[in-house]
Amino acid sequence: MLEIKTIGDEVLKQKAKKVAKKDIASRMDFINEMKEIMHKNGKAVGIAAPQVGISEQIIVIEIKDTPTYLNTKPLPLTIMINPRVTPLTKEKADGYEGCSSAIAIMGIVPRYKKILVEYIDEKGKNHKLELEDFQARVVQHEVDHLKGIMFFERVKDTKTFITRENHRKYVLKIEE
Ligand SMILES: [Zn+2]
Repeated sequence: MLEIKTIGDEVLKQKAKKVAKKDIASRMDFINEMKEIMHKNGKAVGIAAPQVGISEQIIVIEIKDTPTYLNTKPLPLTIMINPRVTPLTKEKADGYEGCSSAIAIMGIVPRYKKILVEYIDEKGKNHKLELEDFQARVVQHEVDHLKGIMFFERVKDTKTFITRENHRKYVLKIEE
């Protein structure tokens, strides 16, 4: 069973390699493991292959309509292979992010509000998808993992770092 790699692991700093279409079928076992690991961490909305120690350009995203992301459009389970992001606006929006590879902290990261993501799916089919807001944020976060970039490297104001507990308490104002 694969496990989540955490801050300090070299694989999280490396540029991930593209996957050739002919090789996708042979990656399905670990893609399924990525899904399982993401589902085990109920709050996770995405996972990138480097986070399970595999330096290849594969991300899995699933945004459920949970209370934590109340104003968020859901996105069904989507596997993106070799994803490429093009911003469709110059405008960036601020929003809190966290990461399964850095569970202790969250922080405010500026991300493009609207993007185009081009990718191939697990069947080798090409896709072009326009995404906005939280959906666009999640894709930008996961694609950053493929470039060896962690969200906290993009936090502009380090005073916004906050623990998950305090994020729930002070930002989401959820009473435990
Ligand atoms: Zn992450």
